[in-house]
Amino acid sequence: MLQPVIVGNKQLADYTHIVGRELIEEIKDLAKQLEGSRVLHLSATAFGGGVSEILYTLVPLMNDVGLAAEWQVIYGREDFFNATKLMHNALQGNPQDLTRKQWKTWRSYNQMNAREVSDGWDVIIVHDPQPAALYSFVPAKAAGWVWRCHIDVSAPNPETIARLLPYICDYPASIFHMQDYVPHGMNGNVHIIAPAIDPLAPKNMALPPDDARHIVGQFDIDLDRPLMCQVSRFDPWKDPLGVIDAYRIVKQRIPDVQLALVGSMATDDPEGWDYFNSTVAHADSEPDIHILNNFNNVGNIEVNAFQSHADVVVQKSTREGFGLTVSEAIWKGRPFVGGAVGGIPLQVKDGESGYLVKTVEECAARCLEILQNPELGRSLGRTGKEYIRQHFLSPRYLRDYLRLFMHLSSNGR
Ligand code: UDP
Repeated sequence: MLQPVIVGNKQLADYTHIVGRELIEEIKDLAKQLEGSRVLHLSATAFGGGVSEILYTLVPLMNDVGLAAEWQVIYGREDFFNATKLMHNALQGNPQDLTRKQWKTWRSYNQMNAREVSDGWDVIIVHDPQPAALYSFVPAKAAGWVWRCHIDVSAPNPETIARLLPYICDYPASIFHMQDYVPHGMNGNVHIIAPAIDPLAPKNMALPPDDARHIVGQFDIDLDRPLMCQVSRFDPWKDPLGVIDAYRIVKQRIPDVQLALVGSMATDDPEGWDYFNSTVAHADSEPDIHILNNFNNVGNIEVNAFQSHADVVVQKSTREGFGLTVSEAIWKGRPFVGGAVGGIPLQVKDGESGYLVKTVEECAARCLEILQNPELGRSLGRTGKEYIRQHFLSPRYLRDYLRLFMHLSSNGR
């Protein structure tokens, strides 16, 4: 019932020329002390969204450095994902809590999945709230359990967090992106670790400009006109409607401008399609607004091409966990404009490596500034790329996990 995810192979050594020998050596030293450790990652889906993005890199790299890491996806049906989507939103502040029945559904799926967790793991990392109750229900505990929270729980719906807290507060360790995200009531052992992107994954690897143009051109984008782009799920907090509004303001000044909204549909996101349809309606058949999703064949390479080719990349979120798309875009050396929320300010120094905005108008003004001044765009992109190189690439993330595993083992777990 728990589905193993096949992740393929990756070699840490391949990252040396990007992140430098020092970090690679540090990782190897840590890994030597952890050799053979059995590590299980558990998550709700292997497709769509930031968590799966991260695990497709982290798990093979853990194996490459000598750990025995696996990733399994829990079993859930529509009723479960409807409940967990509500929970996800409520934890990020939505006033609607789960019904009694939905809480029961969440618990019983967790109970069901808990029976499937095998023995003998040194560390089990449970990602996000969907499977968070596993720790309470698995009888044969792994030596080290970690709850890895990928969302912003700093201002949650109080009823929802109160109900969830008993299931998460006693994990021997938990990880949040930022101190601000830690809800009141977590017991001890909270670790702050920001995620990272994989510079060698097809989504982020260097794509020659001509190839990017070729790919983007296949989606009816006019390559000779400026392009604004946002890559994200169709979700109210990613604010694609706000992006359309900002684009319309820009268009009054630069009539040539085009917009691409690229969004994948995740299997654990039943609301996605409704919001996708609202976005299409808001675009009102304007020919220069291109709304694309993975059902139009927009996969990793296409996302790479759009981010590499766009004249300005936007992530106008009004709430955000970390926002991997931010590092992804900046890593391509593109000028970036994003909402000043969640993990976005961690990744962007306002005015130096991109712009942080609070409103549609501000977003439009910053995009205009960049589109009217290509040298400004290039300089923001250059500074941004170096910042991402230093802080938000996968080897640094792997190192932080290994440090945590060392900490867990030295605590006698
Ligand atoms: N993504 C994608 N295709 C899309 C939309 C998003 O591959 O059409 C990826 C995106 O590139 C990023 C991840 O999904 O790697 C989204 O992670 P993020 O942290 O930005 O947001 P989340 O969806 O987890 O809230």
